[in-house]
Amino acid sequence: MYIYPFLLVAAFQKELENYLEVKHVIPCANGTDALQIALMALGLKPGDEIITPSFTYIATTEVMALLGLKPVFVEVNPDTYCIDASKIEAAITENTKAIVPVHLYGQAAPMNEIMEIAKKHNLFVIEDNAQAIGCDYTLSNGETVKTGTIGTIGCTSFFPSKNLGCYGDGGAIFTNDSELAVKIKMISNHGQSKKYYHDVVGCNSRLDSVQAAILRIKLRNLDTYNASRNEVANYYDQFFAQFPQLKTPVRAENSTHVFHQYTLQVEGLNRDEMNKFLEERGVPSMIYYPVPAHRQKMFESFGSSSTVLPITDWLTERVISLPIHTEMKQEHLDIICNSVAEFIKSKN
Ligand SMILES: *Cc1c(COP(=O)(O)O)cnc(C)c1O
Repeated sequence: MYIYPFLLVAAFQKELENYLEVKHVIPCANGTDALQIALMALGLKPGDEIITPSFTYIATTEVMALLGLKPVFVEVNPDTYCIDASKIEAAITENTKAIVPVHLYGQAAPMNEIMEIAKKHNLFVIEDNAQAIGCDYTLSNGETVKTGTIGTIGCTSFFPSKNLGCYGDGGAIFTNDSELAVKIKMISNHGQSKKYYHDVVGCNSRLDSVQAAILRIKLRNLDTYNASRNEVANYYDQFFAQFPQLKTPVRAENSTHVFHQYTLQVEGLNRDEMNKFLEERGVPSMIYYPVPAHRQKMFESFGSSSTVLPITDWLTERVISLPIHTEMKQEHLDIICNSVAEFIKSKN
């Protein structure tokens, strides 16, 4: 009886491995830990540089700083919000060790191009898949795979707001490299190789078994959840097509979209005014994210604020995300769409 809770975590791990078609899933406590453990497993040294977007949630780059690694911020594609692969090579130096692309808002970064660059320059690739679980990507050889299983390591979060969310905190690390999987498992469990023998400095990062039980059930419905998010997105797309002031989401090449966020770009309107207007009507629109990583105080000592990222800055001022989830009723959609329309008409 005592051991039973751990079997729930083990069962979820196997089921996620099958769903993702990846050799190893290592569950952990949250998505931030997943990223940190992934970086620790690669044996990177303080001062090593990692290429990553600034236009992302802070966790992606915070863990780098925590480990003494240097995030090197690269622009994103203004259509897809993911890292612009054509700008990666210019940022590579002799200290570059890895690329951390983020599959932002629910669709894949250009992994074919990223993997080619990584191979050429001998770099690790860690995919931040926290916003894109269930997303499919078509490789150059025509094969379709899940995001998070393409690079050296993939990381995800099961925070309640994510597409596969639990009722508290959770995360996981994926890899097809069996040696790395052993290391990752060890690091996430106090560097322990066998009970009470600790070979490396690790941390304590467990997925809670109650969360695993919830995730097992929700995983069975993940594709359905993602399909209903797409239905909402398609409805929004059609409704907003009448407004030239709004740019609806562009679908990325070779990727499906799981719409973790439905994000519009507003042109010729005051985005913050629109956000406030929607808030007053009870529509919980959000700005992801109001300050890009390179402009965060956290990175001042890295000299990041002098990084010139005009597209990232430009997007930061124009994006607004509308509510999207799996239980949206037509009446919710009507309130949201009509509120946006009302704002735009009030400005004409
Ligand atoms: C949510 C998120 C994380 C962190 O996950 P937590 O479980 O909250 O630690 C990391 N990266 C991205 C892009 C995220 O959206």
